[in-house]
Amino acid sequence: MAALLRCPILARHPWLARALVTAPPQPHPGDTSRGSHCPFMDLGGDPPFVQRAPPEVQEDVTPPETAPLDWLMELMETPKEAPPERALEDNLPDGAFPYTALLESRLAALRSTHAYRVFTAVRRRAEAPPLALGGAPQRPLQLWCSNDYLGMSRHPAVLRAARAALSAHGLGSGGTRNLSGTSPVHEALELSLAQLHQQPQALLFGSCFSANDTGLGTLLRVLPGCEVFSDAGNHASIIQGILRSGAPKRLFRHNDPEHLGELLARSPPGTPKIVAFESVHSMDGSIAPLSELCDVAHAHGALTFVDEVHAVGLYGARGAGIAERDRVLHKVDIVAGTLGKAVGAVGGYLAGPAPLVDAVRSLGAGFIFTTSLPPAVAAGALAALRVLAGAEGRALRRALQRHARYLRELLRDRRLPVRACASHIVPLPVGDALAAQRLTQVLLQHHGLYVQAVNYPTVPRGEELLRLVPTPHHSPAMMENLADRLSQCWEALGLPREAPPGSSCSSCRRPLHWALMSDWERRHFQGEAVPVGA
Ligand code: PLP
Repeated sequence: MAALLRCPILARHPWLARALVTAPPQPHPGDTSRGSHCPFMDLGGDPPFVQRAPPEVQEDVTPPETAPLDWLMELMETPKEAPPERALEDNLPDGAFPYTALLESRLAALRSTHAYRVFTAVRRRAEAPPLALGGAPQRPLQLWCSNDYLGMSRHPAVLRAARAALSAHGLGSGGTRNLSGTSPVHEALELSLAQLHQQPQALLFGSCFSANDTGLGTLLRVLPGCEVFSDAGNHASIIQGILRSGAPKRLFRHNDPEHLGELLARSPPGTPKIVAFESVHSMDGSIAPLSELCDVAHAHGALTFVDEVHAVGLYGARGAGIAERDRVLHKVDIVAGTLGKAVGAVGGYLAGPAPLVDAVRSLGAGFIFTTSLPPAVAAGALAALRVLAGAEGRALRRALQRHARYLRELLRDRRLPVRACASHIVPLPVGDALAAQRLTQVLLQHHGLYVQAVNYPTVPRGEELLRLVPTPHHSPAMMENLADRLSQCWEALGLPREAPPGSSCSSCRRPLHWALMSDWERRHFQGEAVPVGA
């Protein structure tokens, strides 16, 4: 009986196994096989009718013999041969366009300006964030540039949900939502996102790049003569959606409601208009005056398209972003978010009123003609959103903000020109592509600190920077070490420092961290006579 339960079918139906033991099936007359096509059955065997399945049918019931990680490593090591060398011109007649020469010259130009992209191989350690293995030769690293801001990618609840969906539904979704069927996991996630943003509907995409590009592009094409008012600092995905729509575009100064108002006032009142901006800027870390920008837009009859990519999961009581933090969720007409940063998965979405979302769902090529998210990813994201909306999410958000403020103060103490901003992003402008690259190389190779330099075209030339992200998992000691090492490397490269910080403690002479102080401490250090406990 115990042997019978090795069969995946009978294991689920013990009553059937019992019935088979008491009355084993008999071979059909004339059947020369041994009575059954079931790989587990052997009517002549002992114990009766259970046999070891042949190897070709065992892969789904036999655990891999090596530990899962070793098995993955082995898989990654194959194939071992180098890919073949092949020139584009091999297939072309003489006199065809010199494709290779042109592309090589463009790449050479990037190399000469230090804007050529070189990836750092990093193996993140899910059990010990923010640690990883990486670099060449491989060594332990601390990660300082991950957008997995809260470590959700490895949260036990997220992994549990993703594993369950993976086992139940397999790896890929199997196609587009329209042609291959929509998964209940996608629908549950869309409902959860709509509720998070207090919007009637949400729509999933493979990424938020695609959500911005397709969403904005489709709306601008569908609304006849629509004008778009775009923040000057907008992300490439928003810019691409606008450019491909061909809609007339007006740029307003970054986070400047007054300038937006001036530009909107020049547009006829009955013309459709969309105002697009990011709530937390991905590179300068600024937080937009979201409520004011929305008010100005609405006063001129424009709809608001707000990219909350760097805010979802990170601001607001349930993690809906800056609109929730500022209690103006109702002012956002359409919100774009990602599942790839604080949610710890991959994918993007739009949420908004039904006609807007439905128009994109029905007309947006970037939604219609592409395979939908793997159900396991959607399930993991669903679990992450639940964690982020609760007490644990609020504790993680508080820790993230505290750490960002602490790191900013440590850099300021060392007179590094860290940008003042109110978000969790800590940008350190370097202003030179080569110097930024050298800083990151030395930090990686000599100190095991992985900090990524951000260069053109992510930021304009001359505005290269290090974008530091201290997560709740970075300890104060790690932050102090980073600040010290960065300061050393800064010195070695002869980069300019800021003026000394304004004030220091009159007793211990250490610089005062105004941003970290309580109201009482601030008043005390400014010389006010404040009673202890006031
Ligand atoms: N919007 C902003 C402001 C971003 O910074 C990014 C990516 O970094 C995106 C959109 C695209 O999001 P995703 O990574 O989901 O494609």
